[in-house]
Amino acid sequence: MLAEAGADVVVVDRLGIAAGASGRNSGVLQHPLDPSLAAWHLETLALYRDLDDFPLADEPDGILLLGALSTAGLPPEVRPELLSQARDLEPAVLPGIPAVRLSTGWVVGPRAATEAWARRATRAGAHFLTGVVVPEAPQTLIATGAWTDGVEPLWGVTATTQTRTTHVLEEAGVEGITDIPPGEIFTLCGDLLGSSFHPGEEPDAHEVARKLQHRARRFIGEVEIVSARACPRPRPKDGKLILERRDERVVVCAGHGPWGISIGPATARAAADLIGSGA
Ligand SMILES: Cc1cc2nc3c(=O)[nH]c(=O)nc-3n(C[C@H](O)[C@H](O)[C@H](O)COP(=O)(O)OP(=O)(O)OC[C@H]3O[C@@H](n4cnc5c(N)ncnc54)[C@H](O)[C@@H]3O)c2cc1C
Repeated sequence: MLAEAGADVVVVDRLGIAAGASGRNSGVLQHPLDPSLAAWHLETLALYRDLDDFPLADEPDGILLLGALSTAGLPPEVRPELLSQARDLEPAVLPGIPAVRLSTGWVVGPRAATEAWARRATRAGAHFLTGVVVPEAPQTLIATGAWTDGVEPLWGVTATTQTRTTHVLEEAGVEGITDIPPGEIFTLCGDLLGSSFHPGEEPDAHEVARKLQHRARRFIGEVEIVSARACPRPRPKDGKLILERRDERVVVCAGHGPWGISIGPATARAAADLIGSGA
C-alpha cells in the first residue's frame, strides 16, 4: 500500500517472507467472532477481494462448531445455524455429534495470503531483504509478530494429515480462542489438524501432534499425521493489538494473536496511514 502510494519501501525479514506465523498458521480466513475485531475483518475481506491472484469464493467454506448446542453469543452476521447432526453436512464427522454451522471461514492455506501480498508489493516496486539489517530510513514500521516488545509467544502446533473435509471443523469452545486455557483443541482446516495453545517455551511439535490425533478421534475417528510443526502466535501482553506510533520515526503493528490472516491486511492499511500522515 505504501509502495503503491509512491513511497520507497524496503521489507526486511530475518528469515524471509512468511517465515513466521504468517506462513505457518492454520490457513483460515474467518470472522474473529469478537465484536471489537469485526470491522478489521470486514475491511480485510474487501482488501483480499481486491488482491490479484488470490481468488476468494463469494461464499465461505463454512465452519462447523462441533458439539455446540446453542447459537447464543455468536454474531448474527455469521448466520449461525443449529444442526442436530454435523454429519448431515460433513460425512467425515462421526454420528451423534451436534454442531453450529457458521457462514464464515475460507480455507486459503497457511502461506497463500502473505505470498500474494508480497507479489503485489514487488509489483509496486518494494524491495525485499533477508537478514537482520536496519536500512537507513526516515520511517520504520516494526511488524515482527511474536518477536516484538509488548508481545509474547502463544505456541500453536498444526499437523498435516491425509484427511480433508469441505468445511472447517472446530471443537466448540475454540470461538473463545483468546481465553482458551493452555492445551489442545480439535480443529481441521483443509488438511491441517490443530491446534494447541502453549505459553512460554516452544513445545515438542510431534508430541503435541499425537495429543491432537487423540483429540480428533472423538470427532472424526483415526487420522494419519504426515508432519507437524510449532509456531508462536503473537499474543499482546495486555490483550490489545499494538498499532501505534512510538516516535517520529517508528510505527509498530503487532499482536494479532490468532487472527492475523483474518484481520492483518486492514491493520496494515491503518499502519500505512499512520506512516503516510506522520500522525
Ligand atoms: C498455529 C497457528 C495457527 C493460526 N491460524 C490462524 C488462522 O487460521 N487464521 C488467522 O487469521 N490467523 C491464524 N493464526 C494467527 C496468524 O498466523 C498471526 O496472527 C499472524 O501471522 C501474525 O503476523 P505477523 O506478521 O505479526 O507475525 P509473523 O508472521 O510471525 O511475522 C513476524 C516476522 O518477523 C520476523 N522477525 C522477527 N524479528 C526480526 C528482526 N529483528 N529483524 C527482522 N525480522 C524479524 C520473523 O522472521 C517473522 O517472519 C495462527 C497462528 C498460529 C501460530
